[in-house]
Amino acid sequence: MTAKIIDGKKAAAELMESIQKQVKNRSDMGLLQPCLATILVGENPASQSYVKAKHKACASLGIRSVGIHLPADVTQKELEKKVNDMAADASVHGILIQLPLPDGIDEEKVLQCVPIEKDVDGFHPVNIGRLAQKNRNPIFVPCTPSGIIYLLEKEIESIEGKNAVVLGRSNIVGMPVSLLLVRQNATVTICHSRTIDLPEKVRGADIVIAAIGRANFVKANWIRPGAVVIDVGVNRVDDPMRKRGYRLVGDVDFGAAKEVASAITPVPGGVGPLTIAMLMRNALRAATLVDGV
Ligand code: NAP
Repeated sequence: MTAKIIDGKKAAAELMESIQKQVKNRSDMGLLQPCLATILVGENPASQSYVKAKHKACASLGIRSVGIHLPADVTQKELEKKVNDMAADASVHGILIQLPLPDGIDEEKVLQCVPIEKDVDGFHPVNIGRLAQKNRNPIFVPCTPSGIIYLLEKEIESIEGKNAVVLGRSNIVGMPVSLLLVRQNATVTICHSRTIDLPEKVRGADIVIAAIGRANFVKANWIRPGAVVIDVGVNRVDDPMRKRGYRLVGDVDFGAAKEVASAITPVPGGVGPLTIAMLMRNALRAATLVDGV
């Protein structure tokens, strides 16, 4: 079997086009332009490039964006004040705190300063708490997990009843995507660094979500023939043939796994583009929450 390669770029482009239309409709109706504020702390190059990409995406869709960049030695109090200022600013609809924050900053306290109606990243403890509870609905759901479910829903007729194995239990990907899968009535196994016999766990999966950050870690012979594989990992491996000296690969040994799976996401070009599209969708939604349109 050779797997269908799930085209995340195409799916994200379609979603972005529809968001752009909705933003334009709002502007034609004289409604406020959605506005996303990003807060970046320190000089982490990866975080800087993620924030830059988010602003670029906003600009391409007609969403206003405001960027606040604070030094790595900002105090907890100063950082919380900045977030509180954005929270009180009625022209700002969504607030994104770029994670990770530097050591010494209490991340949870900072995230709690974001009102849940502006929590476009979906990381506020109340939004995450609601995600984990039956019959409760978060206002926003984290972007990468939403993107994963979006791709899965396009690929699989129904997630209900499927055995899903999630590799990773982080706050950003593994845990929220597991909660989303449970809400879709999948039977979910969450694996992590202390899981015993990971290959055997993965062999039971109709759906594999790999989010551990280990290059080519998941082998083809772990994958049940016909499983759908979503590779979230983004890892740099040396590649002297490339000008920049490296290339990006996922957590799954893609070349071999695509001969076993029924569908698989590539890295890059799989989940990544959906993450930004979901953020844009959330930013638009944050504006619609204010004016109800
Ligand atoms: P993280 O916070 O470092 O969490 C990694 C998880 O993987 C942890 O739960 C860890 O287990 C588990 N793990 C690590 N090594 C393992 C092993 N050998 N066997 C089994 N489990 C293992 O990472 P993250 O933020 O979730 O990100 C995961 C990957 O996704 C990274 O490559 C990241 O770059 C990528 N990512 C991509 C996007 C996107 O938009 N495409 C977005 C976010 C993240 P413990 O809990 O036991 O430590």
